[in-house]
Amino acid sequence: MSLEMGKPVTEARAEIEKCAGGCDFYAEHAARYLADQPVTSNARTSYIAFEPLGIVLAVMPWNFPFWQVIRFAAPALMAGNGAVLKHASNVPQSALAIEEAIRDAGFPEGLFRTLLLVGGAVEPVIADDRIRAVTLTGSSATGSQIAQAAGRALKKTVLELGGSDPFIVLNDADIAAAATTGVRARNQNTGQSCIAAKRFLLEADIADDFERRFVEGVRALRVGDPLDAQTQIGPLARPDLRENLERQVKESIRMGARLVAGGKRWGERGAFYTPTVLTEVTPDMPVFAEETFGPVAALVRVADAEAAIDLANDTEYGLGANLWTRDIPRAEKIARRIESGQVFINGMVASDPRLPFGGVKHSGYGRELSAFGIHEFTNIKTVWIGPAQERKATPQAE
Ligand code: NAP
Repeated sequence: MSLEMGKPVTEARAEIEKCAGGCDFYAEHAARYLADQPVTSNARTSYIAFEPLGIVLAVMPWNFPFWQVIRFAAPALMAGNGAVLKHASNVPQSALAIEEAIRDAGFPEGLFRTLLLVGGAVEPVIADDRIRAVTLTGSSATGSQIAQAAGRALKKTVLELGGSDPFIVLNDADIAAAATTGVRARNQNTGQSCIAAKRFLLEADIADDFERRFVEGVRALRVGDPLDAQTQIGPLARPDLRENLERQVKESIRMGARLVAGGKRWGERGAFYTPTVLTEVTPDMPVFAEETFGPVAALVRVADAEAAIDLANDTEYGLGANLWTRDIPRAEKIARRIESGQVFINGMVASDPRLPFGGVKHSGYGRELSAFGIHEFTNIKTVWIGPAQERKATPQAE
């Protein structure tokens, strides 16, 4: 991962541990999730059975090259499916290593295969009769294309797409903890995460304090060689990603945002971009209106919680949301009003095999992980059994 897409090696090792944990989780729980579920109905007996669909095609992104694949593959294979992986073009070695790991784990030869294809060549695979369903983790634009191709072939899709998660800090929050977590939530994986906190919505009374601590934390991040265990910020995965991020920052500054940290290229080689903070951001600026896929934080001051909720929902995305306050009953009420697939109160949004993961709006549909994730790629079959007919006694042959 570090060689192919520049992930800091400490984070790469943590990703592998997370994958092992995800596999252990489904090894332990899949049988229970897939057991027949009895249902009381007008039948003598009725129950729900979970059966495999067949071969599932997974189109996956480069940002978490192992975890994105494992979190689909572990439940899909445990449910009895086969899988074909089309990984992102910049991580072919990761793709082949995952195939090898699954083979080495003892799954039947050929049950999980990697196709080394570019994105544009995927449509005929989706149409192939042997493929029964498709899952994509990627951008919203690709999601729309894959959903169209799958729709033409009447195949089920699960789409995990982009995000522009809000990070709301209310006046009564623990500001030191919020700022420390906020730095991590924005800059983990060099900011290239769908559930990274991207838009910081700060209630007026604490905005100065949060901003000071947050900027201090961002400036302290160590940029460097991804193979160095001390590195916290590596290069962006591709030069075009840096160019897009630079465009978003420059355009936002031109529209009135204030640059208070970073905003520069770094080093001679690699698509490095220094961790960046912009204040005085408004919703029409690219750093707010678009997904920023890199270490760029957009800070916005809001008058009160109502304004924060309005701005949190003022996006085409709906993946995750972070909310910081000491008033938990109030936080739970606010959480219900945020349009997202998950809300984390006093913590940062993260995937966890025990909890469902997914989005609404342009962040996609369907769920990964937990029991919901394993049921996505099953035929949820109703079995209904009526009263047994009395068997007529057959006359004995004389
Ligand atoms: P991307 O361009 O959509 O690529 C993702 C995958 O789709 C790659 O394997 C890519 O292949 C393939 N692809 C591209 N165009 C395609 C097409 N027309 N038909 C079929 N497949 C196609 O996304 P990215 O920019 O690499 O990844 C970052 C995006 O993923 C962000 O928007 C991020 O938020 C999102 N993401 C979402 C989640 C989530 O769980 N919701 C998690 C991580 C990332 P090639 O590499 O060959 O082009």
